[in-house]
Amino acid sequence: MATPQSIISSSPMLEGIQEFVGINFLYYGIGGFAFILFYVLMKEKWIAKKIQKKIPTNPYLWYEIKYSLLSTMIFGFTAGFIAWAESKGWTKIYPNISDYGWPYLIFSLIVMILIHDTYFYWGHRFMHLKKVYPLVHQVHHHSINPTPWASFTFHPLEGIIEAAIVPIMVMIIPTHVLTIALFFFFMTFMNVLGHLGFEIYPSGFTKNKWLAWNNTSTHHNMHHSLFNYNYGLYFNFWDKLMGTNHEKYHETFEKVANAKIGGDLEKK
Ligand SMILES: [Zn+2]
Ligand SMILES: [Zn+2]
Repeated sequence: MATPQSIISSSPMLEGIQEFVGINFLYYGIGGFAFILFYVLMKEKWIAKKIQKKIPTNPYLWYEIKYSLLSTMIFGFTAGFIAWAESKGWTKIYPNISDYGWPYLIFSLIVMILIHDTYFYWGHRFMHLKKVYPLVHQVHHHSINPTPWASFTFHPLEGIIEAAIVPIMVMIIPTHVLTIALFFFFMTFMNVLGHLGFEIYPSGFTKNKWLAWNNTSTHHNMHHSLFNYNYGLYFNFWDKLMGTNHEKYHETFEKVANAKIGGDLEKK
């Protein structure tokens, strides 16, 4: 099945550099687009939808960008490691989409997202342990009022923990390179959404039986302002199951979701 050398790249260093460029492209592309849209072009009109009142200042944004750049380097190293593992025949990366077909490609992407969501929730709980938090996770919580630039604001140790799940997954699950690319796109997009600072989902979302299993921007924003609640990434399953949703989650969401576009910023 897997023919080492030819599948992703013969050079781990080249693969690492490509991933570094690619993830920066996603970070600056999606994060930059969201920032320009919400913090520059639509700021006045959408200010009532701002989850926290303040607009972060430039030094605060620079802090977020600086650490994110470091994280993208770690993601690049991870891709280099995957390419090296691939050359040893240790991964289950397959060369042609037709090897497993499109339905499997979509299925494997969903499986990767669900595994990542579970890994993130429990890894996040671990990083909030008193002895671990100052060493690993405090950098991310420097952003009490996050912007899209905070999506990858991790201490290098947290960057390694966040990235480690990808090589593990490609060693267990037959994966096409396109699935990995789609996974990174989804992961970056959802991270930007979680750190947006504005709520874009409509009123009723968190109580809707079809939609409520998705997290909202308010959900992760509350994690940054209140710390020991709302640990989940993409989905709300684990927070629901473990009772870690903040008791005022729905109330806070409704307040901002009901605010009118074009309205004034209410004191929150
Ligand atoms: Zn946290
Ligand atoms: Zn965050």
